[in-house]
Amino acid sequence: MADTIFTKIINREIPADIVYEDDRCLAFRDINPQAPVHLLIIPLKPIATLNDMTEADRELVGHLHLVAAKLAQDMGFAEDGYRVVMNCNRDGGQTVFHIHLHLLAGRIMGWPPFTDHAKAPV
Ligand code: AMP
Repeated sequence: MADTIFTKIINREIPADIVYEDDRCLAFRDINPQAPVHLLIIPLKPIATLNDMTEADRELVGHLHLVAAKLAQDMGFAEDGYRVVMNCNRDGGQTVFHIHLHLLAGRIMGWPPFTDHAKAPV
């Protein structure tokens, strides 16, 4: 797959406010935060979308979620709560094609998610 801006962050070619890293993933603050805390957790392995994951990625994707929960605990918002989201393709609102978890916290999240685009049922 083509390199994305996240590959450049992994390779330290562009700056990011990195809050966590290990041998499989990186977490940094979203440049356009949608909540008081808005982190992105990305695998070092580039996978374009949820649709591109394979059985081989099962453990990696589980790891991303464990890191989200660890960050929530370490940063002190685990008990109050938070939201973890992965967008997929156009209708999901994905804009960077290197999978990432959004970890949002510090405000009450609405449900269902805000929508302003009608679409015929699938
Ligand atoms: P998505 O729309 O789900 O693909 O999410 C992509 C996210 O990446 C958006 O929330 C952007 O604000 C964020 N983003 C894009 N470029 C950067 C960057 N250089 N550093 C941090 N976050 C970024």
